[in-house]
Amino acid sequence: MKLVEVLIEYKAQSLNHPFSYLYDLDKDIQVGERVIVSFNNRDVVGYVLSVSDTSKSKEEIEKEIGFKISYIKEVIDESPLLNEELMKLLDTLSDYYLASKISILQAMLPPSLKPRSSSLKSPKIAYDKYVRVIDEDEEGLTAKQIELLRLIKQNEKVLVRDLSQKSIITKLIEHKKIEYLYVEKLRYQLPEVGEDIEKELSHEQQIAYDSIIATDKTVTLLQGVTGSGKTEIYLHLSKKCLEEGKSVLMLVPEISLTPQTVGIFLSRFKESVAVLHSGLTPAEKYDEYRKISRGDIKIVVGARSAVFAPLKNIGLIILDEEHVESYKQDVAPYYHAKEVAILRARYHNAKVVLGSATPSLESRARALKGTYNHVVLNKRVNNQSLPKTTIVNILDSRNLSRESAMFSTLLISRIKEELAKKHQILLLLNRRGYSPYIYCRNCSHIFKCPECDIPLTYHKSDNMLKCHHCDYVETMSEVCPECGSHHLARQGFGIEKVVDEASKLFSNARILRLDSDVARIKNNVKDTIEQFKNHEADILIGTQMIAKGHDFSNVTLVAVLLADLGLSQPSFRSAERTFELLTQTVGRSGRGYELGEAIIQTYSPDHYVIKLSSKQDYESFFKKELQIRKIESYPPFTYVTKIEVGTKDKELSERIIAKIAIEINDKRMKDVQLIGPSIPYISYESGLHKRTLYLKYKDDTEVRNYLKYLQKLFENRSGVKLSIDINTYDF
Ligand code: ADP
Ligand code: ZN
Ligand code: ZN
Repeated sequence: MKLVEVLIEYKAQSLNHPFSYLYDLDKDIQVGERVIVSFNNRDVVGYVLSVSDTSKSKEEIEKEIGFKISYIKEVIDESPLLNEELMKLLDTLSDYYLASKISILQAMLPPSLKPRSSSLKSPKIAYDKYVRVIDEDEEGLTAKQIELLRLIKQNEKVLVRDLSQKSIITKLIEHKKIEYLYVEKLRYQLPEVGEDIEKELSHEQQIAYDSIIATDKTVTLLQGVTGSGKTEIYLHLSKKCLEEGKSVLMLVPEISLTPQTVGIFLSRFKESVAVLHSGLTPAEKYDEYRKISRGDIKIVVGARSAVFAPLKNIGLIILDEEHVESYKQDVAPYYHAKEVAILRARYHNAKVVLGSATPSLESRARALKGTYNHVVLNKRVNNQSLPKTTIVNILDSRNLSRESAMFSTLLISRIKEELAKKHQILLLLNRRGYSPYIYCRNCSHIFKCPECDIPLTYHKSDNMLKCHHCDYVETMSEVCPECGSHHLARQGFGIEKVVDEASKLFSNARILRLDSDVARIKNNVKDTIEQFKNHEADILIGTQMIAKGHDFSNVTLVAVLLADLGLSQPSFRSAERTFELLTQTVGRSGRGYELGEAIIQTYSPDHYVIKLSSKQDYESFFKKELQIRKIESYPPFTYVTKIEVGTKDKELSERIIAKIAIEINDKRMKDVQLIGPSIPYISYESGLHKRTLYLKYKDDTEVRNYLKYLQKLFENRSGVKLSIDINTYDF
């Protein structure tokens, strides 16, 4: 008989320690396989952590440990899911991120292999489940139900897996407002590329390549302006790896947004490549996973979670656009693909290449310190110049016309000229909705979120008021709840209003909008980008989503309507984020044969972020920003970690977080600064009231010890969700 340690997930609560079971079936059992066990009288899926032979009987063992022990019912897998390296990684990550092992496992494995009961039920056939409206009558529905009903109505049919509010869907089904619809699966089309020929590296590229090969440092920061040929360097490095019999992991921020990079890898390396993308069915993901772990695949291209691909003998891990924050998972476990990549590279003695035109401040600072090797590409391959940029001060009324409050005179005339030349235009406004502020002209009442006490944003597309800090919504009312007046005013502008105004100003132009409201239906993003690329529209108006890596060759004019928006965000990263956003947005202009132009409208034309981003001057920005971070002791000079508590009861969350704060204060840890308790940006979600606390520190030993103690303390406390986000981005 065998004694087996099993990790299980039960009722979404992650139990960090393994449970003991006995095994006496014929089928072989190995560490790293999934099993079915009984827990609290229910069959659950578990994951085998260790197996040992025992000569004792069940009774003897029970007597020894003092409680009943049951038998494993079934072994699910034929072979282990994780190899030795990944098993070790599991331990390291669980320890480093202070996350339960089971939660790390869930993050590491593809859906159909997760040690989770639902994974056994996941469909193996390829069909998509949609919902569509069958009854539009909103009578008797809650605001959240109305919001969803209107969303579905606008889109004819919506993929169920694209919607997060499963319980609301169930309710709408019960009310017979919507119905399910099954459609054969839409295959994600891998980008088609013709025969792509290997290019000889330019002199500058060759120097970079040689440096990456020669360095004895694990990590190289490859800093190169857009169009400087970073991808060609990745390809040459990958080729060398394959020749040496090693494998390559190529990470991109999002597969659907980087079709070119993906396409080139496919075309150069053909059958050796697997692309892990969200369009794969669970069965396909399973197949790919098995192929990779068998060693049939040598190069894996994928987004964040592909960093866990079970490749053996890795020689190179590349993170393209390394500054993009989606490399860090923003739900537990809060891992960062860069940190995981470096751990894996150390195990394999492999190289990590971080590529970007605007590296994250942290990475650039490590390069400065000499922790990372640093190579720079200053020239575009075709020597094409960067766009010409004009900053327009919109505080100066002379720059504005009577026609519009959001478009400057210059911008209006430049758009008209470009439209006349049949060129395309990209407009950025980083604010969702129609207007960020609704008030009563009669009594000055402001519509606010009852949870967060901040103004609600009016969304015209579904005629609702929404809180942008939590998921609160209500239907837009016709009258003021305070005085009954009908004179409600919409103040300020969001992207929906820009679309309205643009349609009036440029009545012949075809206009598309892209923001996270549109993106609630995933395919809409791809479709919108596709349409714009095919010149089925003249103007694309969007939030930051339009700034990411797209290559629109016919865009000659890019404008930012309100460049200051990001700067007022309450985060020490706001300058960095805004610099990146503006630089990348400006960089979208003039990617084709025509010279590009950019216009930045701003209230603060002298702000260093605005000035330096308009010149695409990353190095000056880096120097200035690093100085500020040093003076104010923010990362990379310190660490910031978030502690978050969530319970169903607002007061309870407040009490617990306050108690933690007192405890930390009492400990008087050296060089540790406590910030908060505070109400987080999204304070109420999935029925939980959340409260947060931030720790800022230079040395992490004491803090880690405390956090470990805290993690243990809350591990088995039901009703309280504690999450710890090491090196958080949410600050
Ligand atoms: P980046 O990734 O740095 O933005 P790309 O890799 O997209 O830049 O390169 C820009 C363009 O230059 C691409 O069309 C690419 O095919 C081309 N290119 C890159 N390296 C070379 C080279 N050595 N010779 C000729 N063309 C090149
Ligand atoms: Zn009023
Ligand atoms: Zn709110």
